[in-house]
Amino acid sequence: MKKYDVIVIGGGHNGLVTAAYLACAGKSVLVLERRPRVGGAAVTEEIFPGFKFSMFSYVVSLLRPEIIRDLDLPRHGLHILPLESTVTPMENGDYLAAWADHDETRRELYRHSPRDAEAYDEYGRLMHFMAQAVKPILGMVPPDPTSFAPGDLAGLLKLGKHFRGLGAERLHALVKLMTMSSADFLDEWFETDVLKATKSASGIIGTFLGPRSPGTAYVLLHHYMGELDGVFRAWGFAKGGTGAVSESIASAARSFGAEIRCDAGVSKVTVRNDKAAGVVLENGDEIPASIVVSSLDPRRTFLQLVESHHLPADFVSDIKRFKFRGSSGKVNIALAGLPTFTCMPDSAGGRLHRGAVSISPSLDYVERAYDDAKYGEFSRRPYMDIVFPSMIDPGMAPPGKHVMSIFVQYAPYHLNGGWTDAKREAFGDAVVNTLEGFAPGFKSLILHRQVITPLDIERITGLSEGNIFAGELALHQLFFLRPAPGWAKFATPVRGFYQCGSGTHPGGGIMGASGRLAALTVLKNGR
Ligand SMILES: Cc1cc2nc3c(=O)[nH]c(=O)nc-3n(C[C@H](O)[C@H](O)[C@H](O)COP(=O)(O)OP(=O)(O)OC[C@H]3O[C@@H](n4cnc5c(N)ncnc54)[C@H](O)[C@@H]3O)c2cc1C
Repeated sequence: MKKYDVIVIGGGHNGLVTAAYLACAGKSVLVLERRPRVGGAAVTEEIFPGFKFSMFSYVVSLLRPEIIRDLDLPRHGLHILPLESTVTPMENGDYLAAWADHDETRRELYRHSPRDAEAYDEYGRLMHFMAQAVKPILGMVPPDPTSFAPGDLAGLLKLGKHFRGLGAERLHALVKLMTMSSADFLDEWFETDVLKATKSASGIIGTFLGPRSPGTAYVLLHHYMGELDGVFRAWGFAKGGTGAVSESIASAARSFGAEIRCDAGVSKVTVRNDKAAGVVLENGDEIPASIVVSSLDPRRTFLQLVESHHLPADFVSDIKRFKFRGSSGKVNIALAGLPTFTCMPDSAGGRLHRGAVSISPSLDYVERAYDDAKYGEFSRRPYMDIVFPSMIDPGMAPPGKHVMSIFVQYAPYHLNGGWTDAKREAFGDAVVNTLEGFAPGFKSLILHRQVITPLDIERITGLSEGNIFAGELALHQLFFLRPAPGWAKFATPVRGFYQCGSGTHPGGGIMGASGRLAALTVLKNGR
């Protein structure tokens, strides 16, 4: 059996990024993916004949520009199409829209509140600056504040200097963003409820928190950190769905010589003399390697792949305490035509459908959706982020027909009585019935629907408890604490065994940052 320099477990986008960087540096690399295709939570699948869906993640923004450049992803087929607007239908039949055109958005805001229209630009500037301030952290291996090692001290000093350089006012704003609820933070800026509601929604995505829970303002910032083609905070679609992002990274990795094997689940990492020695596949085959890198989440990586006697007991306890608590679901719908929303009756096939539609009509609405989840039920009237990918990329659906992607919260993994087929359908019905209220006649357009619960996310992708970020993006699980104190630098307590998935710094989303930093760490450590 050939011995590889590096085996990467899991062919999600982070595993592929790690593989590409390591192969590019001359290592012999093998990626082992359990599913028949690469991509993990970033996959495109033809779920119904002729209808293609970004089955889980659906919009792209956070993917690090340096990765796009280093791996020359456009040459490998990556093509991002801009998503231009967000329309938030209100319960009184009105709407709030953010358009691509800045002046038009200002006029729209003015219609709701001249004061908010004035505050909007300054808010945008602050968030831009905050995101820029935090961005360098995305590209750094977190220093350990409890260590006196020269590298850690140098890292801490660099961080200290960086934050001092922000100036008092911005530093205060950053601390607020790190600690406040998104509702409270937005309250300091705006008075229009629907504006606060739709903005606060970015703060709850992937969390088991409501907009009034402290800590959500950080997730708001996390979603502000993207940029596409240098355009800050821009979101877009990958042509061909998010699977095309993964395929482009896979293609880059192969071009550097990496091998990628699908239908090759790993059951165990072999450890000899306290050092990783390779992996055992689910079919019993053993493949040797000098270095093994896992892109699976921390629970799978440390509690399933490695026997616990190879790990320090306190580290195992920390990993057991790492919180997942998936709260998101997805409903993918094949449509006979585009639905008409009451708030914009003349928009059929127009601007509304070329952007996102956010079902977040008021802060109370979103918070109530969370209330249901807090007590173990899915939201009866959920928050939804809706896009019509076939309007941007017509290749996603047969001519004249459409695909609709609905990201939904809340759908708690720990549902009272557990998820069953009947509960899944009831959850799908809650989504469809709520939408019917905003777009009468919508139901009659549905040709097929796929309802995905957090349990389904876990079963299909392996993401524990269906947490979309491979572990909650909460302050106590970020930076030098992700996934555990002392082990946030991609190395693990087992020599030659590394971690590179979203459960490591800087966290989830189609970002690739974890995969890149892990590869750079492996190359630096050299073993
Ligand atoms: C419903 C949903 C919606 C989302 N929406 C967005 C969005 O719009 N935009 C965005 O930026 N992010 C979004 N995300 C988050 C984002 O998709 C994830 O954070 C990211 O894709 C995780 O990438 P990863 O490579 O770290 O892990 P994964 O994608 O989970 O990859 C891990 C891989 O390991 C494989 N695997 C598991 N077990 C084994 C094993 N034993 N052996 C071998 N292989 C194994 C899995 O099959 C998988 O391919 C969403 C996620 C979900 C679930």
